[in-house]
Amino acid sequence: MNNITPSQKFFLYARKSTDVEDKQVRSIEDQIAELRAFAKQENLNVVEIFIEKQSAKIPGRPIFNDMLKRVEAGEANGILAWHADRLARNSVDGGRIIYLLDCGRIQSLKFPTLWFENTPQGKFMLNIVFGQSKYYIDSLAENTKRGLRQKVKRGEYPSLAPIGYINDKRIKSVVVDKKRAPIIQKAFELYAQNNSRLEDISTFLAQHDIFSSGGKRIKRDRISFILSNPFYVGLFRYAGEIHEGKHQPVVSKKIFDKVQEILKQRGRPHHKTKNEPQAFCGLLHCGTCGMGITGEYKVKRQKNGNEHYYTYYHCTRKNKTIKCKEPCIRQESLDQQISSLLQKFSLREDWAEGLTKKLENGKLETAQSSAAFVQENRNRIVDIQIKLQRLLDGYLEQDIDKEVYREEKAKLLSEKKSLEEKTNNLEQKRTGWIEPMREWIKEARNLPKIAREGNLSSKKVAAKEIFGSNLVLANREARISAPSGLDSSPKIQWAAVSAAHG
Ligand SMILES: [Zn+2]
Repeated sequence: MNNITPSQKFFLYARKSTDVEDKQVRSIEDQIAELRAFAKQENLNVVEIFIEKQSAKIPGRPIFNDMLKRVEAGEANGILAWHADRLARNSVDGGRIIYLLDCGRIQSLKFPTLWFENTPQGKFMLNIVFGQSKYYIDSLAENTKRGLRQKVKRGEYPSLAPIGYINDKRIKSVVVDKKRAPIIQKAFELYAQNNSRLEDISTFLAQHDIFSSGGKRIKRDRISFILSNPFYVGLFRYAGEIHEGKHQPVVSKKIFDKVQEILKQRGRPHHKTKNEPQAFCGLLHCGTCGMGITGEYKVKRQKNGNEHYYTYYHCTRKNKTIKCKEPCIRQESLDQQISSLLQKFSLREDWAEGLTKKLENGKLETAQSSAAFVQENRNRIVDIQIKLQRLLDGYLEQDIDKEVYREEKAKLLSEKKSLEEKTNNLEQKRTGWIEPMREWIKEARNLPKIAREGNLSSKKVAAKEIFGSNLVLANREARISAPSGLDSSPKIQWAAVSAAHG
């Protein structure tokens, strides 16, 4: 053009990659042929040709870099390319070109397909072209983010549901996993008693078939994460903020808060291994003073240099009014005793079979008895939904005014919620006992195996489940404490099994 003088030297840059975006772009040979013709027509002095076969989506093209270096060195002050997108498709490289324009190292950019003028407006346009594909990607990401924010505002968790919940794709929301939620709930309760380690919780979950996505036992850190996830009380974290969720909580706030307290206490830096809580810590109470029984790892060195390792359990002796003299007990001995206690509460195979059969029959009977009532409720809910739709139609057709619409809608929604709750409660009542029962049969059946095998953590978890906090250690003997107050004996179903053994 008229502002180009013979003193202007141009580099010719041609680029084509195998990227999808470059599919429509001409071949390098075509680009060069067209650019040569263009240079001749515009009377441009081309001093060198640069050919590149790389994507311009990310910075770091060697030939492009080399070309810019030589521009900076003053070997040329103009660039000729088929289109601006040949030069850059990312903001870093685009920024470099614009910088060179700003400081005068580049005086002219020429494209046969695009009009560019070295003015603020021209540079602004160029920036847009350079950033075009990036802008497209960014705006996509931005739209996704905006969509997620909307979800969050509506109380919908925009991500993968944690264990105990399922992402229901049909209704696009998070629902309670009926099978696993009660187990998670129990895990919280277990930890809230403040005598389980994170490992014990992992064992507990494994015993109930809850593993990591890779099918392995869930690691400590992960357990800690699960136990501190506010999702379980109906809230959720998103972008560093806590939001109120629409999903149903599975853990009570009280239990959750207790768990947080314990996590905080125990989360303090670990001592040396020898002081780490041993497997049976927190399972038993002292028969004399009622304090907890703790474990300790000890090394004994003999005069001949031999070393022996023991784990002892003994009273914490924290009771200030009683001077406790209970002796300590070796882990092996305690293990044996706990195993035999567990055996006593195990379910014989033939009993388990019989119970399962009864369970199936019971399930059938209750299902028939209340099905009609549930169905009626469901029909009413469907009716309400139809009414809601009609109401909305009426409002949109402007047959109904806004006030009436809002009022009616609120009424209908409230009625619907009540019906839903009633239906849920009824269903819960009618089948609610089946799953826990089935779960219990499975556990009781599994006890001999746990008792036989060497995993102390599994034994502790099982013992906790059956005996709660009713195990006492007195005179080196573990026993179930005599009924003296509330909830002092094993749960009724376990007691029944034990009695049957007798
Ligand atoms: Zn004691």
